[in-house]
Amino acid sequence: MDKLESIQEEVKLDEAGKVALMQEIDQLRKEKNAVILAHYYQEPEIQDVADYVGDSLGLSQQAAKTEADMIVFAGVHFMAETAKILNPNKKVILPDLDAGCSLASSCPPESFGEFVKAHPDHVVVTYINCSAEIKALSDIVCTSSNALKIVNSIPKDRPIIFAPDKNLGKYVMKQTGREMLLWDGACVVHEAFSIDKLIEIHKSHPEAEIIAHPESEEHILQTANYIGSTSGMINYVKKYPEKEFIVATEAGILHQMQKDVPDVKLIPAPSHEDNTCACSECGYMKVNTLRKLYLCIKHERPEIDVPRTIRERALLPIERMLEISK
Ligand code: SF4
Repeated sequence: MDKLESIQEEVKLDEAGKVALMQEIDQLRKEKNAVILAHYYQEPEIQDVADYVGDSLGLSQQAAKTEADMIVFAGVHFMAETAKILNPNKKVILPDLDAGCSLASSCPPESFGEFVKAHPDHVVVTYINCSAEIKALSDIVCTSSNALKIVNSIPKDRPIIFAPDKNLGKYVMKQTGREMLLWDGACVVHEAFSIDKLIEIHKSHPEAEIIAHPESEEHILQTANYIGSTSGMINYVKKYPEKEFIVATEAGILHQMQKDVPDVKLIPAPSHEDNTCACSECGYMKVNTLRKLYLCIKHERPEIDVPRTIRERALLPIERMLEISK
């Protein structure tokens, strides 16, 4: 075991420790021809060492076109699974297999399969935040960036099932005017936002604009000046750098926003300005750490595997989404 490997997870790394790990990760990435893909909700150091940082759509597009031999996915399990489905012959690794997702878990394959069977005439649209088994039961996948486009691409006379996120589903129904059968799933992070706290914060920052992710509940979305995916929110902030923003999504996104627009004033919702309550952080995303990322790329594990039959069935709805999103 080398010196870096012996650093205990509980030990808070100082700047020198972080730099040493980041240098090692960089070296290993070159030696192994690996690409590191990181979601905006990952901790700042992981975002800084990644080759690409993005939202689910951007990450899938990167995974689909990478020429690297190995994909190191700094995100949650369903994202790494999607990368594996798109790259069956490549090694896909995830720093911690416990990096799950409450939204994906709210849609178990067996009951969803029965739901789909009970509505055989429906087109099944699933948000990418679901397991490979659920994707395999779908006609087309979407992300929060392209959900409106995907639903609008379905002929008007076809009824639709939308799963697993009911909040995104309601938002899409409102925007497209399409009735859809919604699965009753949700994300713990986006459902934890407190409207009372949000109003309280806004009272003390009346000039601030509220920007929200469509996984948030309807009453939060009703207060928002802008609703969009994580990359949509970043682009919105870039457009109005002089403004102040209350950001209703996972707090990890603030790192990229602040990097892109250093002087912009950002306030995470619903916690107070100093964000001490950390209630807008996704515990699943934060299971990954810089140290685990280092160990993962060094030992090339834990590896993601998706059984062939599921992988083959799940590929088509993902490819349909990528085609429409070009
Ligand atoms: S923020 Fe919500 S939807 Fe995203 S990974 Fe965490 S639990 Fe899942």
